[in-house]
Amino acid sequence: MVELSTRINQIQDSPTLAISAEAKRLKEEGRDIIGLGAGEPDFETPQHVKKAGIDAIKEGFTTYTSTTGIKELQEAVCTRFKEDKGLEYDPEQVIISNGAKQSLFNVLQAIINPGDEVILPVPYWVSYPEQIKFAQGRPVKVKTVEEKGFKLTAKQLKEAITPQTRALIINSPNNPTGAVYTEQELLELAEIIVEEDILVIADEIYQKISYQQEAISIAALGPKIKERTIVIDGVSKAYAMTGWRIGYAVGPQDIIAAMGRLQSHSTSNANSIAQRASLAALLGSQEPTVTMKDAFNQRREIIVNGLNQISGMQVLNPAGAFYVFVNIEGLVGKVIADQEVTDDQKLAELLLQKAGVATIPGSAFGQEGHLRLSYAVSEEQITEAIKRIGSLLNK
Ligand code: PMP
Ligand code: GLU
Repeated sequence: MVELSTRINQIQDSPTLAISAEAKRLKEEGRDIIGLGAGEPDFETPQHVKKAGIDAIKEGFTTYTSTTGIKELQEAVCTRFKEDKGLEYDPEQVIISNGAKQSLFNVLQAIINPGDEVILPVPYWVSYPEQIKFAQGRPVKVKTVEEKGFKLTAKQLKEAITPQTRALIINSPNNPTGAVYTEQELLELAEIIVEEDILVIADEIYQKISYQQEAISIAALGPKIKERTIVIDGVSKAYAMTGWRIGYAVGPQDIIAAMGRLQSHSTSNANSIAQRASLAALLGSQEPTVTMKDAFNQRREIIVNGLNQISGMQVLNPAGAFYVFVNIEGLVGKVIADQEVTDDQKLAELLLQKAGVATIPGSAFGQEGHLRLSYAVSEEQITEAIKRIGSLLNK
């Protein structure tokens, strides 16, 4: 066996991507699988966005771009940030990367020294702890309370801060819980962040998918918090563009410039064609995003009502994103299809094998006794998935 680096040996495969790959494989084998695993919109990229990509190819816009992205796209990000989040930035404070995932990776590499702590509210999105470890930092996982909607409180934040704390990662609307922080909740967190002089990485990739209220950016709550915030966003979710791989980070210019230095030696720049398509997404009609959100909203109702009727499953109504985070503690220890449900992983395995429904165990997000189901699939698939889960569990 070839010896690998200590850093890479600390990293696990992305469970969300691994489970969706497994679901795809089973489908290709001819199995009838409903994929509620990976979270990606089932809609097509809007026509005018696809056309902008095609035009870019036809026009020969196929060479390297500047490392931090084409100027027009940096400006378009500023325009959207102003309109959607009430935040003003200069284009030099924007870096375009290959997906929000790379933006996050770059930020952590740029700000973390060995042993630095990054506070992570639990449940967390799967890539955060791995990226923190890869940057030689230490994820400090703080469990949130389900009854309080899985949101980190100011008190919890204060208690978690040590002299080694470098940053907090806050993700609102949240993957996997769908929680959306209110302005008051963010204000209370911001006060402590400023007082303790730490940074905040605000992952706002689901900002446009918020049902009851507009999702607020913590950076918009005053100049002191703004100068300590790096906002992460992208086109994957809002414009159904997961495969195009465009995300961005916006924040203090020295941090963004450092991220640019790193990117200049890793991926150089994001794909030129995808940058042009993203430009059309950000500057064109925002109607497709609203239409998708409305569809997600209807699906949310169907999945929440359906799952809450299954004995042993309990779901909070998610305020944003397109996931439900189901409490399945009532099923642990039960026997289903002649097998004991030892934990959430076992239940996810049984649902996949016996009901043909792919889900992600909560433990992948640091929260056992739960399952995450994505409802970014058709209403028919949701209804069918609920039927299958119900009949397996009630057997
Ligand atoms: N943050 C969160 C919370 C996500 O769910 C995702 C989706 N995979 C990302 C970041 C990364 O998105 P992308 O790399 O597709 O822009
Ligand atoms: N964000 C999605 C998810 O959590 C896509 C998969 C991934 O990038 O991890 O399922």
